[in-house]
Amino acid sequence: MFRRLSTLKVSRMRGFSALVQTKALVNGNWIDSCSRQTFEVKNPANGQVIGHVPDMTVEDAQQAINAAKQAYESKEWRSLTAKDRSNMLKKWHQLIEQNAQEIAEIMTAESGKPINESRGEVVYGNAFVEWFAEEARRIYGEIVPSGQPNREVIVMKQPIGVAALITPWNFPLAMITRKAGAALAAGCTVVVKPSEDTPLTALAVAKLAEQAGIPKGVINVVTTKQAAPIGELFCKSPDVRGISFTGSTQVGKLLFRNSADGIKRVCLELGGNAPFIVFNSANVEKAVDGAMASKFRNCGQTCVSANRFFVQEGIYDKFVSQLKQRVEALKIGDGKSADVQIGPLINKMQYDKVSGFVEDARDKKANIIVGGKGLQELGSLFYAPTIVTDVPTSAHIYTEEVFGPVVSIIKFKDEAEAVQKANDTQRGLAGYFYSENLQQVFRVAKRLEVGMVGVNEGIISAPEAPFGGVKESGVGREGSRHGIDDYVDIKYICMGNLKYD
Ligand code: ADP
Repeated sequence: MFRRLSTLKVSRMRGFSALVQTKALVNGNWIDSCSRQTFEVKNPANGQVIGHVPDMTVEDAQQAINAAKQAYESKEWRSLTAKDRSNMLKKWHQLIEQNAQEIAEIMTAESGKPINESRGEVVYGNAFVEWFAEEARRIYGEIVPSGQPNREVIVMKQPIGVAALITPWNFPLAMITRKAGAALAAGCTVVVKPSEDTPLTALAVAKLAEQAGIPKGVINVVTTKQAAPIGELFCKSPDVRGISFTGSTQVGKLLFRNSADGIKRVCLELGGNAPFIVFNSANVEKAVDGAMASKFRNCGQTCVSANRFFVQEGIYDKFVSQLKQRVEALKIGDGKSADVQIGPLINKMQYDKVSGFVEDARDKKANIIVGGKGLQELGSLFYAPTIVTDVPTSAHIYTEEVFGPVVSIIKFKDEAEAVQKANDTQRGLAGYFYSENLQQVFRVAKRLEVGMVGVNEGIISAPEAPFGGVKESGVGREGSRHGIDDYVDIKYICMGNLKYD
């Protein structure tokens, strides 16, 4: 039924790396959509079409679920020990490492991310594969002392079954490995639906998973533009036991709602509205370094990007003038050049949102001290790194996640005011602050209503640390030893009537 593709030949013809795939992966077969429809993958730096991938339908997605279920129940997968799964993940990790440059080039071509950052993402994303290869061997149960004689209380963790993984474009590799690494370590099988903007990175890492000997059907990748009906299928299918999603709060809420009937395990990593507080006691140079890293990584398109900068009166002028100098020096352009620090925004929708937010702030009498305009001479999706001061609380850039290279600065008087303003949002993903005052550090770290706090640090994600939010920023944690929890059920086995004497 499925037509195999000579992928190598096609990709060589296109002049791309052999890792560029033009088919989706279902049950170990590289296939077209049953509708034969495809969609274009474009380079946001120049609008050029860099590939076509299948526009998989709901029917195709159902095939992928069937394949994952069949693989989950197969003796080949079930009989593997934790050590076997660990070894497979280690092999996958090794192959990703060996192909890091090619993956980074694919990522930069489809996402616009500067090549140095893409290389960094391959290392970061691959660290989750390594971490979960190690964790696979430590999914411990318990034997709990029983309250009754002749009885043992045994607790074990078992895989939940098939997990559907829906990932965004801003980290085309890491968001897949952070989920799939944990799922496979636990013994689950997966259907991955990557973002329609960045399907090529997903297919490339799936190709390497195949080469690593991960059995057919264990990882399936459905490329599609039909996210809504396929998302609904994932939520409603009784064969999908868990959904892990990274993306917008709006879509996360929809998936949460749709998963209610089936009482699915749901892990949601949604939008943030990160405060970045600089206290009078801060080391201002370090705070500026942290601000640059947190705000401008991936052109501001990360959910943990600092979104609102609160700067205390005493160091306000110094912080703003140093930050302004650094922002003006940023090198903007096509991410494939090694010296570029800021690439294009991912698509027109994102560009319109960012420029609309800045115009809204301008209308509301905020002060734009750097940038504040598109850079059409570089390409239609480039937006100048921007600093906006005196931001009123009614401005969209204050209340909503900008997801672009825009710094919004608000001056504050004292700690209580800063913490109150930082928490005055329904989002609670990351929060950052700079202070050299030990008492203040502990006080503020505890009071911020977020899932992750950076103290004197602007980049905090790491495979060994739990990533996730509170409030409307999500449920569940990824990475760390907790990252396994969403992929296992706890089973209690009561061993009764044991004869000990
Ligand atoms: P972003 O603003 O980061 O693009 P989205 O939430 O729109 O965030 O997209 C994140 C992922 O969710 C992508 O893979 C996208 O295709 C997918 N997606 C978008 N809408 C839906 C939906 N209704 N159901 C399931 N997945 C969706």
